[in-house]
Amino acid sequence: MRKISVLGSTGSVGTQSLDVIEKLGLGVAALTANKSVDLLEKQARKFNPEIVGVYDEESAGILKKRLADTDIKVLSGMDGLIAAAEVESADTVITAVMGMIGLKPTMAAIRRKKRIGLANKETLVCAGRLVMAEAKKYGAEIVPVDSEHSAIFQSAAAGNKKDIKKILLTASGGPFRGKTYDEIKNMPKEAALKHPNWSMGQKITIDSASMMNKGLEFIEAMHLFSVRPRQIEVLVHPQSIIHSAVVFEDNSVIAQMGVPDMRIPIQYAITYPERTPSPASELDFTAMKPLTFEKPDLEAFPSLALAMEIAGRDDASCAVMNGANEAAVALYLQDKISFGEMYDAVKEAVDALGSMRADTIDDILSADSEARKFIFERYN
Ligand code: MG
Repeated sequence: MRKISVLGSTGSVGTQSLDVIEKLGLGVAALTANKSVDLLEKQARKFNPEIVGVYDEESAGILKKRLADTDIKVLSGMDGLIAAAEVESADTVITAVMGMIGLKPTMAAIRRKKRIGLANKETLVCAGRLVMAEAKKYGAEIVPVDSEHSAIFQSAAAGNKKDIKKILLTASGGPFRGKTYDEIKNMPKEAALKHPNWSMGQKITIDSASMMNKGLEFIEAMHLFSVRPRQIEVLVHPQSIIHSAVVFEDNSVIAQMGVPDMRIPIQYAITYPERTPSPASELDFTAMKPLTFEKPDLEAFPSLALAMEIAGRDDASCAVMNGANEAAVALYLQDKISFGEMYDAVKEAVDALGSMRADTIDDILSADSEARKFIFERYN
């Protein structure tokens, strides 16, 4: 039986991944989480993995006691996450960990030639050049889980990579679509947390409201499909039915469509190139609302413009932007800065920290922590 490891199994994509794995009748080799002991215990008892990695040491101790009646190995810290990523019996590792702690485990799984079901944004945003080079060197497949990148991956399969003219990266536009910058800048978090189409974690929902999420996805797409920034066009498509598309040299446009349900791209990352029945419902073309498309408003959503500009620089610049943004989102969620100040803070960090070394994963991690420190010192 095929076995899958799920890093970040207690989050939104992680729990949906386990649903998919269960429905496919596959096994689980390893699970990891930051510190959600209760849910992790439930998952471990249900799926009986070899290893459970808990990043937080204290939580790991608690879980170890609770699972003492089982054969499951409970490991802690970064070493625990890396051991989970490397488990021999798994052929695929879904990286649904949130944040920079996903970077080293993902690299470890790549070096073990696992298929990576990539759901950790930071991996490609902050270390895209290093990670893609490593995947090529070890022959590890990276199959994206994010709905847009899965759509591009599926569409790109209709032709040769070298014949891709352009990528159409679709965006729902988030809850503030159609509003001006002045209307948006003081929006409270309660409004920003209401996403029209997708149910996701808080950080990514705020990033969707500012469209920074699309900016991060822009950088990911550039690395995954080896295209230049000018070959990616962001297209606002509020209905989230077309999940993205590829334009080939002959101007044929191949798009992937479906109901907005993450179980489709998660399952595809596991079964690729096969396709099997899914619990997600089928699209009903005659029942759906008209599909509409518009250009993104880069004045109302300056974070998107910033990310598109930073994309062409080095990994460290992308890591600074990403780290600063994560810190700014945290401060916004604590009501310490306004919605508009999130962009101001990130821009300041990018300008102040400039270009840093980006030769190793540790370089990337230090660019990230410098950026966070910068934001917390100024705005906290
Ligand atoms: Mg997405």
